[in-house]
Amino acid sequence: MHEMGLMEDALRMVSEDAEKHGIRSVEKISMIVGDLSNVLPDALCFAFDAFRMSGEIPFLKNDATLEIIRERGLARCSACGTEYEPRQLLATCPDCGLPFGVLLAGETFKIESYEGS
Ligand SMILES: [Zn+2]
Repeated sequence: MHEMGLMEDALRMVSEDAEKHGIRSVEKISMIVGDLSNVLPDALCFAFDAFRMSGEIPFLKNDATLEIIRERGLARCSACGTEYEPRQLLATCPDCGLPFGVLLAGETFKIESYEGS
């Protein structure tokens, strides 16, 4: 489950940023997870809860929450211009069947924001 490592990295980034801004406790973290990003939201929540309850991350409040904003996949066919939602990275255009889509969205995995004081 690579989400443990991803969450650890995310918490480290938030932690460093919070420290820079004099924020001592974080109560909410919002992350954008694309449908094609290879990250499972459920596993990410599990990892977040594990870190939250472990007490290893001092700035993270016991009742901190994780908000996951899903980003749906979107691709545009280079041949005919049709936009479609790809189910996987190498998807074919539903109109002309060519696999030359340009991925416009869906691969994002990032911290959108966090709240704390
Ligand atoms: Zn097409």
